[in-house]
This record gives sequence, structure tokens and C-alpha cells, in this order.
Amino acid sequence: MAAIISGKELSARLKAEMAAQVATFPTKYGRVPHLAVILVGEDPGSVSYVTGKAKASAEVGIRNTTLRRPESITEAELLGLIAELNADPGVDGILVQLPLPRHIDEERVIAAIDRTKDVDGFHPMNVASLWQKQACTLPCTPKGIIKMLKTAGVEIAGREAVVIGRSNIVGLPVAKLLLDENATVTMTHSRTRDLGEVTRRADILVVAIGRPKFVTADMVREGAVVIDVGVNRDPETGRLCGDVDYAAVEPKAAVITPVPGGVGPMTICCLMENTIECFLARIER
Ligand code: NAP
Repeated sequence: MAAIISGKELSARLKAEMAAQVATFPTKYGRVPHLAVILVGEDPGSVSYVTGKAKASAEVGIRNTTLRRPESITEAELLGLIAELNADPGVDGILVQLPLPRHIDEERVIAAIDRTKDVDGFHPMNVASLWQKQACTLPCTPKGIIKMLKTAGVEIAGREAVVIGRSNIVGLPVAKLLLDENATVTMTHSRTRDLGEVTRRADILVVAIGRPKFVTADMVREGAVVIDVGVNRDPETGRLCGDVDYAAVEPKAAVITPVPGGVGPMTICCLMENTIECFLARIER
């Protein structure tokens, strides 16, 4: 039976620590951190993520302003809103909930955010800094994954880590962070031949694909550490499930993360941490 890393429990503990820290800020600095979240349209998934971020902000004591804009907003109007938030000294973090409607260029929007307020860590300058091993805001999901591994006492250095998925927000940055922790990292994707051959080598397997229960027991080495990033609907039950067939893989793994209650809560937790870090960096400047 695998040890289960509960992102729900770990994030609750970390949020309580952050709440205690933020409670000291009004006396020390005269205010609390302020996170501005922009939501374009009413996609139910995005609405639910934004609601989760507002709830976590309230728990930690961070001021959260959610700016809702209609799907019809033009790119110029959205860029104008970002420019206002960039210029506002009372705003420490800016997050644009993705995805954006097709008529808006996501890359241009992300690049328009002041990099010192980029709490998602998606700004090109933050990405470049990550790859050059310079101080930067780390993207929330990869940051949360490394925290989970470390908290669970998983040794990373020298071990074989395999990442499935190469997206800008999960696969690529988590591979870089694992590399920085001295793992031997292999990246895989939809064009990888004999995926199971590669994944069976993994001491640490990180799965970020977006396909329900894609990773089956035969793809996992006995005693592996399995981190499931996927958030999907099980086509049979309609319930939330990961990219890993949890019931089949869990007995083989040494350590595993559940879905829900695994990586997801840690992502939001790291968003809170990034907001505090951006706030403190602004105060110090
Ligand atoms: P994405 O941008 O769609 O990327 C998916 C990646 O999976 C791509 O690199 C793709 O390869 C690869 N892939 C797809 N089918 C594959 C296959 N059959 N074999 C091997 N690789 C395959 O997805 P994402 O944004 O990284 O998200 C992945 C999942 O994580 C989604 O379920 C998403 O909802 C979830 N997610 C969760 C959190 C959280 O906080 N829990 C955060 C972000 C994302 P190619 O590059 O070759 O196309």
C-alpha cells in the first residue's frame, strides 16, 4: 500500500502558517497583500478556480479582488485593465484566469503583466529566470509538487524522474525544478515511443496529460513515487479523477497523490505564497 500525500492536509497546514504571518503585516507594513484576479467570461471551470482562489485568499488573510469581465471584452480593453493594475501601488499580484477567449492573444496578455506582480510565474521574464536559475516567481503547480515531494521525505537527488506532458504551465517547469533538485529527468509527450518502457524506469513519475486514468499499473515500477496532476471527469462515473488509474496504481506505488485532494490544493496554496512573496518584495523595494 502506498503512502498518500494529501495536498489537502499539507495546504491547510501551510495556509494556517501563512495566515499567522499575514496577520502581522498590518502592524509591520500597514496593510495586507492584495491579489487581483481577472476572470473573462463565465466558463464554469474558470469560475470554480477563481472562487477557490478567493476562498484561499480569505483563509490566509490576503485581500482578493476578482474583476469579472464579459467574454466580449477586447484585447485592448483587457490590456488596459492590466496596465491600470500594474500602475496601482496597492496591488501586489495580478492573475489572469486562463484560458482566454480565442480573440485574445494569451501570450500578449501574460507578457503585459508587470513581472513583479506575476503571481502565476508565467511571464516570459519569470520563465527565463527559472531556466537560468535566477530568483523568480515559480509557477504554482510545479512549486507545489516539489513541496509535496520534500514534505513526504522523497529523495529526489540522483533518482530517475519521468514527466509525462510538456506544457508551459506544468510539464516543462516541473522537469526543470526536478533537474534543479538533481534528479535525472526524462520528458515524455504524445510522440514518445514505447511510453511504458520509459515510465517503468521512473523512481518519480509526474503525470500531467489531461486524460482520465491514462497511466495504468503496467506503466509504473513497483515502489515508484507517483504524482498525478490531471484533473478530469471520469467518463463512466462523471466524478473527478486524475491522469492515473489510482485504484490500479496505488498498490504498486510507494507514494502517490490522490485526485481530488492532491496537487490541486497545493497549486492554490503556492499562489498564496507567491502573492505574499510579491508583496514582501514590493515592500522591500
Ligand atoms: P496540456 O497543455 O494539454 O498538455 C498536455 C500534455 O500531455 C502535452 O504535452 C501532450 O503532449 C501530453 N500528452 C497528451 N496525450 C498524451 C499521450 N497519449 N501520451 C503522452 N503524452 C501525452 O495540459 P496541462 O495544462 O499541462 O494539464 C495537464 C492536466 O493537468 C490537465 O488535466 C489539467 O487540468 C491538469 N492541471 C492541473 C493542475 C492542478 O493544479 N492540479 C494545474 C494545471 C493543470 P504533446 O505536447 O506532444 O501534445
